Amino acid sequence: MRKIDIFDTTLRDGEQSAGINLNTAEKVEIAKQLERLGVTIIEAGFPASSPGDLDAVQRIAGTVKNSIVTGLARCVQSDIDAAWEALKGAEQPHVHVFLATSPIHMEYKLKKTPDQVVEQAVAAVKYARKFFPLVEWSAEDGFRSDREFLVRIIEQVVEAGATTINVPDTVGYASPYEYGELFRFLRENVRGADKVKFSAHCHDDLGMAVANSIAAMENGADQIECTINGIGERAGNAALEEIAVALHIRNDIYPVQTGINLKEIKRTSQLVSRLTGSLIQPNKAVVGKNAFAHESGIHQDGVLKHKETYEIISPALIGEGEVPLVLGKHSGRAAFRDRAIKMGYELSDEKLNKAFQEFKKLADRKKEITEDDLITLLTEQQVSIEDIQLYELKSVQVSYGTDNIPTATASVVTPDGDLRTIAATGAGSVEAIFNTLEQLVQSKVNVLDFQVKSVSKGRDALADAVVNVRINGATTTGRDSSQDVLEATANAFIDAINRNIIHENIRQKQVTEV
Ligand SMILES: [Zn+2]
Repeated sequence: MRKIDIFDTTLRDGEQSAGINLNTAEKVEIAKQLERLGVTIIEAGFPASSPGDLDAVQRIAGTVKNSIVTGLARCVQSDIDAAWEALKGAEQPHVHVFLATSPIHMEYKLKKTPDQVVEQAVAAVKYARKFFPLVEWSAEDGFRSDREFLVRIIEQVVEAGATTINVPDTVGYASPYEYGELFRFLRENVRGADKVKFSAHCHDDLGMAVANSIAAMENGADQIECTINGIGERAGNAALEEIAVALHIRNDIYPVQTGINLKEIKRTSQLVSRLTGSLIQPNKAVVGKNAFAHESGIHQDGVLKHKETYEIISPALIGEGEVPLVLGKHSGRAAFRDRAIKMGYELSDEKLNKAFQEFKKLADRKKEITEDDLITLLTEQQVSIEDIQLYELKSVQVSYGTDNIPTATASVVTPDGDLRTIAATGAGSVEAIFNTLEQLVQSKVNVLDFQVKSVSKGRDALADAVVNVRINGATTTGRDSSQDVLEATANAFIDAINRNIIHENIRQKQVTEV
């Protein structure tokens, strides 16, 4: 059966979207899960953009063995050098170089003639091939490029040694028919087309990213670039889980295989949502909370009589509710550790102990511990950073009554090790907490968005709080899980402040779009 390579760019195109900034430990965690999911290629970052990105790509390249790891580079030597530095330890070093080819990008952004663009692309691919056995070249804004020019430049980069040619719909403008037709045209007209792999990369500005990707595949693209939950620039990228499940469920019309382990989809989706702080819309295909919920009486009746009346995908297919949980209040450390290992976590003894203590605390207060709770506890430990001094919330207390002015008192330990305590008021409990913490961290914090949701079902469920803030012109997202909503809120706010500190130190994020 024909093989379609899934190229995941959650950690590059996805991480690039507004307000998302993952630390290295979180990126490694997501990469390990993508490997379990069975993606062919993981785009781990853009090494030349910052030392932090380079370090993350390097760590992922050293950790992941069963997926190819790649990094993005502009068509300039210093970017390719940074990518090599990050990827030379990988099992199969792969680099992704890109250069814009549309008239509007060449004229206004690059300020280069088409001839100069060809020259630069060829030189970069040749240079990259000195180090990398696998070189993907992308025609940025490829869909809006002149076709004759595309044929010309692709022929030359193929001759220069490119092994994959990506023709992205960078701005999400294409329709399925047009995008598919473009791939057919290129496969028929590019000299040497049979020697390389063609790749599709779609954005969802018109809601057609998944359909466009599949149209490209039907017309000869053997690789699809996508992200978990469809996160990415603006309206996002094509959603990996939708493509994988569509190709599986409609195998009758798409006789291809992707190598994706569908049972890992739910967990991957939740991990990415939790760590990036981008919540999944409830009606999102495949992974939304309501994706398998039947509400109308007629539908419920039908499903009870025969599942397939209204259900084309079974929740078990994507690993939902798969493993029954046997851990409870009386479970010991050994059983807990055993469970963590089975779930794929590799924690140090110290972190495992911390997770176990949290588990015990939760088990005392919560009747039923679910798989989701456990993933939350273990992931929190797995990605916690201990080597940087940051703010730490010591305590928070809120006084609220319908006839009182809400007041919060909070204590934090500052990065310098001082203990600071302040009280402030607000129009509501949450605002009182935000006002107090803002004074404690002594910088102007603009709250852009704030959301709370429960991790699992029931009134005693853990709460996930996500706070999106703007500090000194930079947007960051903080998150925390706790059984108490106000405690989770306070910790999420502090988390956002800490992420801002980390990123101010290590990152000057370059805005790129491929
Ligand atoms: Zn993109």
